[in-house]
Amino acid sequence: TCSSAPQLTKAQKASNVKKVIAVMSGKGGVGKSSVTSMLAVSLMRQGFKVGILDSDITGPSIPKIFGIKERAGASQGGIIAPTSRGGIKVMSLNLMIENEDDPVILRGPLITQVVNQFWKDVIWGELDYLLIDMPPGTGDVAITLFQSLPINGVVMVTSPQALANMVVRKAIKMVRNYEPPIYGLVENMAYVQCPDCSKKIEVFGKPQGEEEAKRTGIPFLGSLPLDPALATLSDDGKIEDYQSADFDQIARSLAEQIKL
Ligand code: ADP
Repeated sequence: TCSSAPQLTKAQKASNVKKVIAVMSGKGGVGKSSVTSMLAVSLMRQGFKVGILDSDITGPSIPKIFGIKERAGASQGGIIAPTSRGGIKVMSLNLMIENEDDPVILRGPLITQVVNQFWKDVIWGELDYLLIDMPPGTGDVAITLFQSLPINGVVMVTSPQALANMVVRKAIKMVRNYEPPIYGLVENMAYVQCPDCSKKIEVFGKPQGEEEAKRTGIPFLGSLPLDPALATLSDDGKIEDYQSADFDQIARSLAEQIKL
């Protein structure tokens, strides 16, 4: 490379990312990280260039789901984020600490600072979509991040249990106080499909995601089954081997909405 080439400023680097999508949930455990990961995989399969910024700092699961062992590196131009087997650029605090299972003890303001630094200093390169796995819920950290990152829109993830608790409605209302639009609602763990007879078993009662989306006036992106294969592949760091027409459809609906 030419040493006299001008160094890109941070802002110039960031402008190579076309759309920043925040993936949020009303509470933890609804599958926000899994949905973020699979949305990234499906978008990539559809030919888009995708990255994931894991801002769920106290429970950073993205590197594990993708089986990324490599650590983040540093160069003069910024932080070098590892890439998944399929080509998704991933940045997470877990990629900076030596021991994956060491706890990350950071208070709110510092978390915001670290995540903002990931956004600004990682060499994201050319990306169509950067998905941000947000901290669960609508607490202090989630809101501060939401205000400080250049988010273009939100995907809200919920589960039947969270719908019953109305936590997703609260989250939707919270997000609506701010500028970025909600691209849609995804209902995860809506049912289990019997592997023998294909019957859908609604474990947590009748799924209500579509109704809730209608009631709150946001697009419904789709329902996802509780699928042991997804859990197992995530645990094994092989989420990119997961095939799902449901996720592909959700990713297509999402991409159709967002003009690049
Ligand atoms: P969150 O980010 O909302 O806390 P995670 O994505 O970490 O939730 O999911 C919590 C657990 O549930 C994980 O073990 C994950 O593998 C599992 N899980 C999430 N969605 C599904 C699904 N649709 N089918 C099976 N397991 C799932």
